[in-house]
Amino acid sequence: MSRVFHRHSNKLPPIGTKGGGVYLYDADGKAYFDGSGGAAVSCLGHGDPDIINAIKQQLDSMAFAHTGFLGSQPAEDLADLLVDHAPDGLEHVYFVSGGSEAVEAALKLARQYFLEIGQPERSKIIARRQSYHGNTLGALAVGGNAWRREPFAPLLMNVSHIAPCYEYRDRRADETSSDYGQRVANELEQEILRLGTDQVMAFVAEPVVGATMGAVPAVEGYFKRIREICDTYGVLLILDEVMCGMGRTGTLFAAEQDGVSPDICTIAKGLGAGYQPIGATLCSVEIFDAIKTGSGFFQHGHTYVGHPTACAAGLAVVQKLTQGGIVDQVSAKGKQLRDLLHQEFGQHPNVGDIRGRGLFVGLEFVADRDSKAVIDPSHKFNARLKTAAFEAGLICYPMGGTIDGKNGDHVLLAPPFISEDHHLEEVVSKLSIAVSKVT
Ligand code: PLP
Repeated sequence: MSRVFHRHSNKLPPIGTKGGGVYLYDADGKAYFDGSGGAAVSCLGHGDPDIINAIKQQLDSMAFAHTGFLGSQPAEDLADLLVDHAPDGLEHVYFVSGGSEAVEAALKLARQYFLEIGQPERSKIIARRQSYHGNTLGALAVGGNAWRREPFAPLLMNVSHIAPCYEYRDRRADETSSDYGQRVANELEQEILRLGTDQVMAFVAEPVVGATMGAVPAVEGYFKRIREICDTYGVLLILDEVMCGMGRTGTLFAAEQDGVSPDICTIAKGLGAGYQPIGATLCSVEIFDAIKTGSGFFQHGHTYVGHPTACAAGLAVVQKLTQGGIVDQVSAKGKQLRDLLHQEFGQHPNVGDIRGRGLFVGLEFVADRDSKAVIDPSHKFNARLKTAAFEAGLICYPMGGTIDGKNGDHVLLAPPFISEDHHLEEVVSKLSIAVSKVT
């Protein structure tokens, strides 16, 4: 009997023993194509010798030092590199251990900023339905995933949720994409006015929605309008790039493609690429200066913030992504993957939408394309698809369409950036085997 408290205590996973390139292997030697990089984590695949060597070197010199006493060179270098590539205005980097913690830090940073500048009444947060920002209590409160929130509802702070930008389901027939984007963005303004213009501290959103909707980018112009509204009312824009950042959509930061700079940006997953647990919260010079010239102390500080070995891994990853030209190839590879998916599933009666940006791709499943009704009202489709894919040797990320009954079941694909043509073909053919078993 396993003493590990697994995610699913009634269904234990096989033990993984090896990773190499785009594959993971279990104890019986079965190979699995890591078609979702776990959960959009393993952007460089498995067993990358450069990242492993960087970690080994850091372990040999200084594995850990508490940042209350000592900083570290990898943290300094990684912060410089990230700021060099970040959207304009993001100038400071706070290192944490993962995505949820990056979001917690972002929320606390926003709150502390307003305290430091003498606007203590600003404490309200607006986020979006059909979103996921992590599983700690603050991040869970911000997220709009009803299923994840429900058991913990009494513990969650009050957050307002407005509509996501979800063209496939929500654009009206008489609207252009652009009109639709402006209409849903304007919900933010209405909510700020409802809550009180001096009460709201931040709006939080994923530039490309991952776990909850399956790689849904906003329509053109949406985030520009969001930025405009935030500026009008002095509300901070927090973009959560934990899943879609670090090159996943074809640029190191996803927001670049939406033409906006947030005040705070969270990253994780691809930053450590699975080699070390690490996340980061980037912020503007205004926010940093308010704290520096104010209390001088950001009240967050977990034990492992700025962990030197994690930062060494992150540094090696971001160097490889940016200097090796790997991110530059992501858009083309993503297009190729979507083309292959269109060839395979373009006529499939249960595949309603094929979408995404870069190597962050989603398929939405429906009972039929006209009604767009949920494919399995008992909500077992995702579990069945995950099992069928796993049996076929494919790790992918299916999620359920239970949120407000408004979005469908989908599967997220986020293969490693090192995937070659034949790898992308393998993902699609294995997914096809799995889909044929469950539709
Ligand atoms: N934010 C987003 C957008 C995510 O997709 C996730 C995880 O899927 C998180 C935050 C939480 O990250 P972690 O699981 O590393 O805590």
